[in-house]
Amino acid sequence: MAKIYFLGTGGAGSYVSRGYPAYLVEAEDKLVLLDAGFGVDAKLHSLGFKVCDIDLVLVSHEHFDHLLGITGLLNALVEERCSKQLVVYGPQRAIESIPLIIERTGPRNAPKPVLKPLSIDFNEISLGGIHIKSIPVDHSVPTLGYSISTRDSKIVYSADTRPTRNIVEEARGAQILLHEVSMPSSMLNTALVTKHTTVGEVKQLLGIAEILAPIHIMHVAEEELRRISGRKIIIPVDGLIVSV
Ligand SMILES: [Zn+2]
Ligand SMILES: [Zn+2]
Repeated sequence: MAKIYFLGTGGAGSYVSRGYPAYLVEAEDKLVLLDAGFGVDAKLHSLGFKVCDIDLVLVSHEHFDHLLGITGLLNALVEERCSKQLVVYGPQRAIESIPLIIERTGPRNAPKPVLKPLSIDFNEISLGGIHIKSIPVDHSVPTLGYSISTRDSKIVYSADTRPTRNIVEEARGAQILLHEVSMPSSMLNTALVTKHTTVGEVKQLLGIAEILAPIHIMHVAEEELRRISGRKIIIPVDGLIVSV
């Protein structure tokens, strides 16, 4: 069994009710953080977690809404008096930018993170009883989705992307697919240019995994998204916890 904590269900916009992208997976006594949007440290603390307890951070890409919470996580380690190093995997360009962000913006007194660049390919990572696979997706910069599997559960995270066969194939038979949706169907042209997914497109992914959880929800997509209903879809809000 695994638990998913929806820490930040918004995208790049600024909303009171939807924080920047961040999802915590708890499985096999391990904690894996998917993306690190601004304020992720506060979201973790509000659910009773310490940043010190996180075993792995998987960053999807270099865009600010997914990455800049890293500094808050490092600062939280100092406040928690934790000497453990944060282990961060992600595409090379995202990983390369982290030392520069820390050097320029701090915190410089935090334990240096262990940085693990990944190629834009299907990479495998083992963590105790958890098997992680990176999945190349189709976004405007090099981006990786991830799947997290245990003996009895599989969670697939699309990151920011156009709908892609790589994600569909990985999600087939999974317990849950967290798939980005940024725009209403009427903004398909913008989605094609910026390489995001529309509500109409995410709707077509219903039934591939047991549950579809649209994420990275921009306010312009919210109204159309709420019109999709059924047992196989949940529209998450920040703080939602789902067991699979
Ligand atoms: Zn984004
Ligand atoms: Zn992006």
